[in-house]
Amino acid sequence: ADTFDEECDYLFKAVLIGDSGVGKSNLLSRFAKDEFRLDSKPTIGVEFAYRNIKVGDKLIKAQIWDTAGQERFRAITSSYYRGASGAVLVYDITMRSSYENVRKWLLELREFGGEEMVVVLVGNKCDLDQSREVEKEEGKGYAETEGLCFMETSALKNLNVEEVFLQMITRIYHITR
Ligand code: GDP
Ligand code: MG
Repeated sequence: ADTFDEECDYLFKAVLIGDSGVGKSNLLSRFAKDEFRLDSKPTIGVEFAYRNIKVGDKLIKAQIWDTAGQERFRAITSSYYRGASGAVLVYDITMRSSYENVRKWLLELREFGGEEMVVVLVGNKCDLDQSREVEKEEGKGYAETEGLCFMETSALKNLNVEEVFLQMITRIYHITR
């Protein structure tokens, strides 16, 4: 039996959103299990992963939800967002359309998510710089105007993945305590 729930000081829920194929599931498996998949395997039903993080002397259990491919049909329901304190909104730096859809994801997030949600905008696949369609400054500038955190990542090369989740969790902790 898992006795950790009794020992942890905080439990936070966060969600992953963004277009299909941008790398959400790989970012999560990298963060939670240090694994990467070359094939994209949409799962059935909502999946989530846990990771325990220490912030100061507090133990935080982060529960991170991943879409199960419903984003393909724009069929994510409000229950996915319910109770979430944070969101990682992902686009693919090599796919301009996924960046253009960030606005729509943000609208949905603001409709279904809480007011105080911590949002990190993530430009993933930064290892594919030769195929880049979105400049880093562009993503960063947009994040600033919308009041979001921003980072470019590579789930493949394991660049900045840990930093994205840790930054989000630390911010949530400082806001909610
Ligand atoms: P999701 O639909 O957003 O969950 O995306 P997936 O995690 O399933 O990834 C979609 C495809 O992109 C898969 O073929 C992954 O191997 C690939 N991929 C994910 N992250 C990266 C990355 O950082 N760099 C590269 N080059 N490929 C990636
Ligand atoms: Mg996925």
